[in-house]
Amino acid sequence: MIDPGSETSGFRTWSGAYQFTARRLVAARTIQDVRRAVAAGGRVRALGTRHSFNDLADNGATLVTVTGIAPDPVLDESSRTVTVGAGTTYGAIAAWLQERGWALGNLASLPHVSIAGAIATGTHGSGSGNRVLSAAVAGLDYVDADSELRHAGRPDPDFDGMPVGLGAFGIVVRVTLDVEPAYLVRQDVYAGLSWDRVLADLDGIMSVGYSVSLFTDWSGESVQAWVKRRVAGPDDAVPAELFGAHRDPGPARLADSPVDNLTVHGAAGPWSQRLPHFRADVRPSNGDEIQSEYFVARRHGPACLAAVRRLASLVTPLLLVTEIRATAADGLWLSGSYDRETLAIHFTWRNRPGPVDGAVREVEAALAPFATRPHWGKVSHIEAEKLEPLYPRLRDARALFERLDPQGRFSNSRLERLGVRAIR
Ligand SMILES: Cc1cc2nc3c(=O)[nH]c(=O)nc-3n(C[C@H](O)[C@H](O)[C@H](O)COP(=O)(O)OP(=O)(O)OC[C@H]3O[C@@H](n4cnc5c(N)ncnc54)[C@H](O)[C@@H]3O)c2cc1C
Repeated sequence: MIDPGSETSGFRTWSGAYQFTARRLVAARTIQDVRRAVAAGGRVRALGTRHSFNDLADNGATLVTVTGIAPDPVLDESSRTVTVGAGTTYGAIAAWLQERGWALGNLASLPHVSIAGAIATGTHGSGSGNRVLSAAVAGLDYVDADSELRHAGRPDPDFDGMPVGLGAFGIVVRVTLDVEPAYLVRQDVYAGLSWDRVLADLDGIMSVGYSVSLFTDWSGESVQAWVKRRVAGPDDAVPAELFGAHRDPGPARLADSPVDNLTVHGAAGPWSQRLPHFRADVRPSNGDEIQSEYFVARRHGPACLAAVRRLASLVTPLLLVTEIRATAADGLWLSGSYDRETLAIHFTWRNRPGPVDGAVREVEAALAPFATRPHWGKVSHIEAEKLEPLYPRLRDARALFERLDPQGRFSNSRLERLGVRAIR
């Protein structure tokens, strides 16, 4: 039975940063429920686990979430893929794969996000050789504007426009992801990495492990590095020094998060329990925060970091923490890493909307000369017209979305600002 749609009054994103204007939320239990919700007509939009920080998932009308549809994972060892319900969290599929000796190539910091919501916004982890999570999508099953169940996948022409799809072409119900044999990862914290070394050796530092994250509040002369290395066994030695920084036995801390919310440091373990920063089995924090994030070409990384550092006196008092990560270039039309090796500069702000808004604008102004792409799921004030030249395939994506959804039933005001028409 389809949920007739619960009232959404006061319904907010996970952090509370944004209040939805949608009037109805349909919590689908089956793909048939999704088809019926779309067949009912009007504007309709997919909602994941609500971990975005803006109005991207909203539409003032009906939202449909597929998080209640059973995951039913199907592993195909010959094609090295798993197909799973799109509303499944990364944490759930990671544990399921690990139990069977298989793995995903990367994960984001938070395992609680839905697969469909994460890929739709180009969510990423870290690693100079690792692409965004959406690049592991081999196929998608989705309910289209005529409420038909469709499949798209590699090597369909235009498929590169779909994984980072912003919810614009339908409601994704199953996702096929690339998998590989399970592997071990060890993560270590290095303290006292000097800003001088970061600015002088950024590429070398970001490539020192499988996944590298730098944490800072922009004050002081040094940053902290978290290095996740793929290891052959629990006794693999790891260096005690990293570009002049020393290994810190811990316990690791992330801003004001409780320490036992984090995955284990200093000991090898399954990829599924080391690649995310946060443990899947506990709530990561109370969510009292605002996030923004920017993708720049890695070659501009040192100049961009220096530009933000000059704003430290404004940024630091409003900040919980900044995380700096690397991603590899990909060919996904709306990916933040489209066609360029990327440095991602992330800000977890204190929940002080007014002053944070001002600081976000200052950061965006400082990064503007570097063709900065904002994270689709986080707060940004960069105007839609400025995004056009930043995404060389935006025009193609718009044409694709309009072909798949000619009436604009899945569009919303944010997509309209990007030129994707929406029905009234
Ligand atoms: C604590 C925290 C940590 C985070 N860490 C990272 C990180 O490490 N890296 C990173 O890049 N981002 C990170 N994010 C951002 C987060 O990954 C993205 O905002 C992501 O989109 C959240 O997924 P969701 O399921 O909550 O999507 P929602 O916020 O619910 O929706 C986002 C978009 O996805 C679309 N969508 C959702 N479900 C479907 C579907 N079934 N079919 C079609 N479209 C759909 C929606 O329409 C909307 O456009 C973090 C966020 C938080 C709160």
